[in-house]
Amino acid sequence: VSADQFANAEGVSHTLNLYNGRKASLSLHVIIVGCGLGGLAAAHCLAQAGHRVTVLESASAIGDVGAGIQVSPNVTRLLRRWGLGDALEKIAVQPEAVVLRRYDTGERVGYTKWGTRMLEYGAPYYHIHRADFHKLLYDLAAPNMNLRLKATVVHVDPDAPSVTLSSGEVVHGDLVVGADGVKSYIQQVVLGRANPAQATGDAAYRAIIPSSVMAKDPDLKPFLDEPEMTAWMAPGRHLMAYCIRARKEFNLVLLHPDDGSVESWTAEGSADRMRQDFSDFEPRIQKMLSYVQSTLKWRLMDRQPLETWVHRSGKIVLLGDACHPMLPYRAQGAAMAIEDAAVLGNLFSHLSDRSQIAPLLHAYERLRLPRTSDTQASSRLNQKIFHLPDGPDQQRRDSEMREAMEAELR
Ligand code: FAD
Repeated sequence: VSADQFANAEGVSHTLNLYNGRKASLSLHVIIVGCGLGGLAAAHCLAQAGHRVTVLESASAIGDVGAGIQVSPNVTRLLRRWGLGDALEKIAVQPEAVVLRRYDTGERVGYTKWGTRMLEYGAPYYHIHRADFHKLLYDLAAPNMNLRLKATVVHVDPDAPSVTLSSGEVVHGDLVVGADGVKSYIQQVVLGRANPAQATGDAAYRAIIPSSVMAKDPDLKPFLDEPEMTAWMAPGRHLMAYCIRARKEFNLVLLHPDDGSVESWTAEGSADRMRQDFSDFEPRIQKMLSYVQSTLKWRLMDRQPLETWVHRSGKIVLLGDACHPMLPYRAQGAAMAIEDAAVLGNLFSHLSDRSQIAPLLHAYERLRLPRTSDTQASSRLNQKIFHLPDGPDQQRRDSEMREAMEAELR
């Protein structure tokens, strides 16, 4: 069976709504490297498709960082299908609208109603705490995966296939899925060369303010009463803000030119430096930032689309940030990783013979690579649009946004 036949059989639908609980008639042992959002989603989808799953994670405990994440309908549709609808409702906030503002005056230049209108896309838009989201996916996948912590993969034999851990232990399987993030080692194995992610020129501060603090301030309380996704656009920077955890916390993401941060989810940034970097933003932002006690700082990386996601042995494949890291300016990095997992699981529910493994992997790549490449490119484009210097292009951007907003509010 060729990759084309599999790809065509599934159609071009990127979310692959077609999975109907089918189990593969041939069960594989799948080794997933990395227990991030992508690795967990892949563990769930491949186990549902009838495969035995081992997840190897270098960290000594599982979890995610103290920050928010936007989860759009292309993903919440899948999460609901996986039975997580009620659990999501309890931990998430549904934004009423997306609002774009000018950084110095706070003037509203763009507005699009979201709320229940998102249901036109088949599922809600949610704002969630990353740790809650990670736990939700962990609880879903845990009963059907063998998770091994402190298990760092340092070598791969692509033909066996097998992986060697830093302890020297060799773990054998039938298929290796590299869900090992932006600094992926498995990606090097697939390409046969080092291909480090590229600096995008931007870095992100991330901070959370307790809503109880903001509620006492009449200037800030409206951000809690009517939860929206608000972005303030400035030359070379922007700031995004939204409620998470049933409105109990307020999440800030502050994007700015990179001045030597590190690629780590847990690196502390200086809250004072952050306040200084955004001191020309409107007074309400100054108030919000005055309440920030600590901040995380992260260098934003991406890379050009890879020539392939599948090793020539046909036994190793990539997923998530390992193959398509992107700027978070469309909030689609984790979304794409979870879509990857849904497609991979769906395809591997068809498996009936070993000779189909490589064609299925190529079908997966064919279905996913164009969509993720477009999303990488449009995220880069948003960097330019959001960060225009004040001048004619920025004025044209704002007046087009205002026109659309007026039509929306009419
Ligand atoms: P990761 O989460 O990086 O997981 C990789 C895992 O592999 C890690 O646990 C790591 O410890 C493990 N690992 C690495 N190497 C090895 C090894 N050799 N052996 C064993 N284990 C290994 N996306 C959205 O969809 N919506 C958003 O709103 C959003 N906002 C964002 C905001 C910011 C500031 C940033 C930086 C990103 C944002 N993203 C967002 C993107 C999203 O966070 C990532 O795309 C997503 O977390 C990638 O998941 P992953 O599972 O592919 O990789």
